[in-house]
Order: sequence, then structure tokens, then C-alpha cells
Amino acid sequence: MKKRKRPQEWKRKDKDNCECCDLEKLFCLNNEDNEKKDVNIKVYPSLTNAILHEAVTLRRYFHRHPELSYKEKNTAEFIVKELNTYVETHKSLCSVLGERTIETQLMGNIDGTHGIVFDLVFGEGKTLMFRADMDALPIHETTNAEYASVNEGVSHACGHDAHMAILLTVAKVLLRDRKLRHHLQGKVRLIFQPAEEGGAGAKRMIAGKCLEHVDMVFGLHVWNFQTVGTIGVCEGAITANSDRFEIVVTGKGGHGSQPQATVDPIVVGAQVVTALQTIVSRSVDPFAPAVVSIGTFHSGDAANVIAGSAVMKGTVRTKDERTKEIIIKRMEEICTGIATATGATIDFKYRHGYPATKSTRSGALLVRRAASKVLSSGDIRLPYKSLAGEDMSYYLNEKPGAFFFVGSCSPENLKSPVPHHRSDFNIDERALSVGTSIFLHIIANSLTNSGDDEEKKEEEEEDFGGAAAV
Ligand SMILES: [Zn+2]
Ligand SMILES: [Zn+2]
Repeated sequence: MKKRKRPQEWKRKDKDNCECCDLEKLFCLNNEDNEKKDVNIKVYPSLTNAILHEAVTLRRYFHRHPELSYKEKNTAEFIVKELNTYVETHKSLCSVLGERTIETQLMGNIDGTHGIVFDLVFGEGKTLMFRADMDALPIHETTNAEYASVNEGVSHACGHDAHMAILLTVAKVLLRDRKLRHHLQGKVRLIFQPAEEGGAGAKRMIAGKCLEHVDMVFGLHVWNFQTVGTIGVCEGAITANSDRFEIVVTGKGGHGSQPQATVDPIVVGAQVVTALQTIVSRSVDPFAPAVVSIGTFHSGDAANVIAGSAVMKGTVRTKDERTKEIIIKRMEEICTGIATATGATIDFKYRHGYPATKSTRSGALLVRRAASKVLSSGDIRLPYKSLAGEDMSYYLNEKPGAFFFVGSCSPENLKSPVPHHRSDFNIDERALSVGTSIFLHIIANSLTNSGDDEEKKEEEEEDFGGAAAV
């Protein structure tokens, strides 16, 4: 009989493998080689230190004065005031130089919200739209930063303060940089939307016609799961379909000592919870990311009483429509089946939330091309995988373009990054120069005639390979 090899001997021993897990170093999250110690950012040429310093000041102002979804009144007023100041400075500079001013248009109160649309017209040509979100979260901030929130119980714990600072800085540079504006054709539209955090502010902006005559849309999110000095971009879905559901089990209440006379909704509900957990493990393709989570389960008031009903609420996250359909169908079947088996009535309601945010190939390529002028090629990565929801999807369902992550975690914190929506959330502010530079390069590359040819050539040459839909 042949002697079996012991498993240890099968392992590929390589001096480059990680000491903690024996995986190739590239795949070990704990490996220090994967930490990015040097942050190399080549900022857009006309982004001076003074302007970057102002970008930080803007971000800190927003951070200090956060407002909740659809209540971004002061934030919007501040943005309008800033934009008007940039336009006035631009006009006085042009009159001194005897040059023509750029045509601009500023619109507020989009669809009755605090949304803002700011257009800069450089001539005939394509229109590119860039989006920032303005809202904060109902979270008490615990960063102890000197610019911490002064609005009790509200904080910019997702990083939308950075998005606004980036877009304002883009506006400032476009109005100041003479060389760039003489070179541009077409239109840049900058939008500041309300209520990304669950309020679908993007839908209101679209209802307010922000997408009219727009050719491509771009957005970014600072991202604490990537080191500052890197970005995450891919063709296809970068965030998930983010849906909610509610299940109401109606049984028959009674005395705790006489279960035979009742239909216990807690026992029925428990079966529903357990059965729902088999959907992802047994019905969904293991290579398709999916989550079914129950967040609340409420029933009953007394230890000796069998309750009359139970209510459960939860979320479903998927990246593709097929998986989403399978999950909904299985949820319905489970609810119907358990109701029949137990004699309870089960009411199942599914609410479709934000769709998955998907970048088009052309949009992702434009971001990569712009980013290659700011970061080294190794720092332009596939995004950190996430099933978060994001309402940028509504714009990208209508127009081509891209949404990408801008790393905002300091290298020393990468082993345990502070997640978004946590009270001590903060960012490495060097992310502002990365985001602003990439947006400016997208504009400079795309809104010129020469840019078109280069873009086409690059699209033909570049291959995304397996980068789609992570
Ligand atoms: Zn958020
Ligand atoms: Zn966010």
C-alpha cells in the first residue's frame, strides 16, 4: 500500500509566502508588505498648495456643521455663496486681463429640495456631470477632532463633507486655471444632491432634470477600506442592490401554559428566520455575492403569554438581478410554506431600494486614465468588495459614467480601518487632492477634441480582463 503524503508536504513552501498564514503575501491582509507606507500623489498641475489647503478648510467647515437628509439648508446656502464668490473672482480677473468670462449658471432648490446644479459652459461639445452628496448621519460624533460636529447628534460619518469640498475645489480650479479653460470645449455640470443616506435624493435631482443634455456622469466616495493614495474602480457593479423587507406573522395568542390552543408566532417566526438563512447557502450561486439579514424581530409583552403576532424586518443585498429574483422567489416560497405548515398567516412585503451602482466600461476607463496621471499603476485597483447601497446608481442607470472609491485610510490604520457610519469615523485628508485631481483630469482629457481620439485609442487597447462586476 502506498504511503500517503502528509498535507503539510503538499503546501507550496515559498520564501515569499506569508509567515502568519503561508498564503502568498499578496493575499494576506495582515501582511505588512501590503501596507502602503509611501503615499505618492501627483496632484493636478494647477492645484496649488494654497488651493489644497482651502479644500481642507472647506471639508472641515462641512464636517463641523453637518445636516441630516433633506435638511441641508445651511450647507446648501454655504455652497451657493462659495460658488458665487468663485464666479465673481473669475469675472474680476477676466476684466483685468481683458478676457471673455466663462458662462455659468447656478440653480438651487432643485425639485423643492436643497439640491444645487452649477453649470460651466466652455463652448459647444459634450456635457460631463459630477456629483457630490451633502447629507450627514444621525450619529453622535466621538472623533475629538478640533473640527468635530457642533450639531448635537449629527455627524459627517460617511465622508460626504469631503465630496462637497472636492467638487467646490473643482469649480474653483475651472474658474481660475486660464490654460485649462482655454483648452476646453463643452460643459461641466457640478451637482450637490441632498439625502443620499436613505432618502434617494438622486431621484429628486433627476426629477429636477439634472440629467438633461448630460452625456456622462461621475461620482466618487472616499473609502476607509482602502489606503489613501489608492483608488478602486471597476466596470460593472461597485455597490449592491440594497433592499428591505418586512414579514408579519399573525398567529393565535393565548396562555403560555396552553400552547395547544394557540398558534405561536415566535416559534413560526423562528422557523422563518432559520429557513431564510438557507437561501444564500443553498439557493444562490456561491460566486454571486448576496446577503439576507434580519435586523429586527419583535413579538410579545409577557413571559407567560403567547403573543398574537411577530414582526421581522431585514435587508437583502445582491449585485445582480438574477440573484435578486431568486432570493425574492425563495423568500415568498418559504413564507407560504411555513404558513401552511403551521397554520399562521404570514404577510411578506419586499421593498426595492437603491439599485447596484454600475460603472460603464467607457466611464471606468476614463477614471483609470485620469487616475494614471495622479497615482502609480499599482495604486489603481479593483474596489474593496462591498455590499453597501448608494443612490449614485439612479444617475448611472440613465447615463454612462463611473463611480469609484478614493482611498481615505491612513496607512498606519489600515489593519483596523474605522468603518463608515461609525461615531469616530474620520478620513486622511490627502484623499481630497486625489479626488479633485482625478475629476480635473477627466475634464481635461474628455472635453477637448484631441482628448476624444486618445480616449478611443485607449479604449481599444485597454482590457479590463476579470475586473468586471466585483
Ligand atoms: Zn453612508
Ligand atoms: Zn456615503
